[in-house]
Amino acid sequence: MKKDTLTGVYKKYFFNKQLQKVILEKEDAVVVVIDIDNFKMINDTYGHQTGDTVLKEFSGLIQQNIRKEDIFARWGGEEFLLLLQHTTLENAIKKIERLRRTLERHTFSDIGKMTASFGVAWKEESDDLHSLLQRADKALYEAKKLGKNKVIFKKV
Ligand code: GH3
Ligand code: MG
Ligand code: MG
Repeated sequence: MKKDTLTGVYKKYFFNKQLQKVILEKEDAVVVVIDIDNFKMINDTYGHQTGDTVLKEFSGLIQQNIRKEDIFARWGGEEFLLLLQHTTLENAIKKIERLRRTLERHTFSDIGKMTASFGVAWKEESDDLHSLLQRADKALYEAKKLGKNKVIFKKV
């Protein structure tokens, strides 16, 4: 019930529940929205089924490169969410940058090279679920605008 059937990672519902808990308990947290670059082109070039395989391989690769306590979820389509805790903003950004490079270096089985863009937000006292996700999503939008394959952090 908690997991997305295609990729096996958490569903948005579970992610939101965990994030809500973190907000209520006033714990430090970093939220990341991840969106695969030019995914429509991958579908158009190789077909929807290959697109599905890529989503699985992408999810597996991210999952392998995060800690057990990090929560990785599918937000919908080719958009994913990551919740990092027990870290500083500086270390979180370094880690996300490493994820970006891991993806960039990986050769995907059917399509070869692929990249993703990352929007990062740090949870502030004033944040609720909506404002936090919205800020990470705005950061993602900026990463796309700046040419994709980038990690962008957005301050309040
Ligand atoms: P950008 O670099 O700006 O993110 O462009 P994009 O092409 O990745 O973004 P866009 O939002 O235009 O396209 C996302 C595509 O993802 C469109 C949709 O058909 C495809 N998609 C969404 N869900 C699935 C899925 O479950 N499987 C497959 N194969 N494709 C999906
Ligand atoms: Mg998208
Ligand atoms: Mg995309």
